[in-house]
Amino acid sequence: MKTYIFDPIHQVALDAANEIGEIVKWDNPEVKEYSDAEAIIVRTTIVDKNRIDSMPKLRIIAKHGIGTDNIDLKYAKEKGIFVTNTPTANMTSVAELAVTLALSCARQIPRSNMLTKNGLEILAPRELTGLELSGKTVGLIGAGRIGQKIGEIFREGLGMNLSCYDPYLSEELADKLGLKKYDKLLDMLRDADVVSISVPLTESTINLIAEKELEAMKETAILVNTARGKIVNEKALYEALLNNRIKYAAMDVFEIEPPKKDNPLLSLDNFIATPHIGAATEEALVNMGLTAVEEIKMVLQGKTPRYIVNQ
Ligand code: NAD
Repeated sequence: MKTYIFDPIHQVALDAANEIGEIVKWDNPEVKEYSDAEAIIVRTTIVDKNRIDSMPKLRIIAKHGIGTDNIDLKYAKEKGIFVTNTPTANMTSVAELAVTLALSCARQIPRSNMLTKNGLEILAPRELTGLELSGKTVGLIGAGRIGQKIGEIFREGLGMNLSCYDPYLSEELADKLGLKKYDKLLDMLRDADVVSISVPLTESTINLIAEKELEAMKETAILVNTARGKIVNEKALYEALLNNRIKYAAMDVFEIEPPKKDNPLLSLDNFIATPHIGAATEEALVNMGLTAVEEIKMVLQGKTPRYIVNQ
C-alpha cells in the first residue's frame, strides 16, 4: 500500500510505516503529484475536493491528531474513502497544556518570568498578585475526551468544582462524571472562574465565544482555548481583555496560524499565547503516529479501521 506522509511524523511512527509498505515522505523534493497514493497521513495539510480528486486510488486518509476540520469528510465519504483520526493518542497532552495555561494565567507566570529576568527592585510586586484556583469552578465547553481529562486534573489536583456546557452529553454521564450540566452556555459562563474550550470546529462552534459570551463572564474569569482558533472571536476577546472585562486568557490556537506578530492579542499583558503545541509532546507524537499507521495497516489487511470519523 503506497502511503504518502504529507506532514512530519515521529521517527518511531515512520519506522512502523516503513514496515507496512512503500512510503513517500513530506520532504521528498522529487514528488510533484500523488496519483498513486492509496493511503495518506496528514496533520495540518488541507485535504479538499481537489486533493482527493488528485488521488484516484486513495482508500484511507489517516489524520494524525483529532480535529478533522482540514479534511472534506463528506466528499471523502462519497468517494468511499475512510477518514480516521487518533482520538485517544494526544488527549492527555492537550489536557495537561490546558491546565498549565490556566495556572499560568492565574499566577501570571510569563509576565512574572519576564519582569524578573528584566531586573526587579522589589520582591513579589503588587502587579503580579495572582488568583488561587482551589475551590473555584471550571466551566468546560465540550466534555468529550479532552474536556473530561481537563476536568479530572482540575478536580483531583486542585480541588476545583466542575461544570459543563455540552448539549450532546447525557444527564446520566454528566452525573457520573461529577459535572454540573448547564443547558445554556451563558448561564455556565456567568458562574465559572475558569472557562476551558474543548469542542470541535464546526458550523455551530464558530464564534461560540464572542462579545455577548465574554460580557457574561466574571471580571475575574480566565479563558483557555486549546481547541480551534475560530471558536473564539479574536476581536471580541481583544476588546474584553483590553477593557479588563475578563481577567486573563490563554490560547494555543488562532484564527490564522501561526499567529501573525501584529495580532493585537499578542500585545496584551493579560494574554498568553502558545503556537498550537497541545499535542506536541514526545508521548503524543509517538502515539498519534503509531495510531495513524495502525489504521492504514487495518485497511491493508482488509479490516475496518477503528477510528473512522466519516461513517
Ligand atoms: P471529543 O469529540 O471527544 O469531544 C468534543 C465534545 O464537544 C463532545 O463531547 C461534543 O458533544 C462536544 N460538542 C460538540 N459540539 C458542541 C457545541 N456546539 N457546544 C458544546 N459542546 C459541543 O473531542 P476531543 O478529543 O475532546 O477534542 C476536542 C477538540 O480539541 C478537537 O476537535 C480538536 O479540534 C481540538 N484539539 C486541539 C489540539 C491542540 O493541539 N491544541 C489537539 C487535539 C485536539
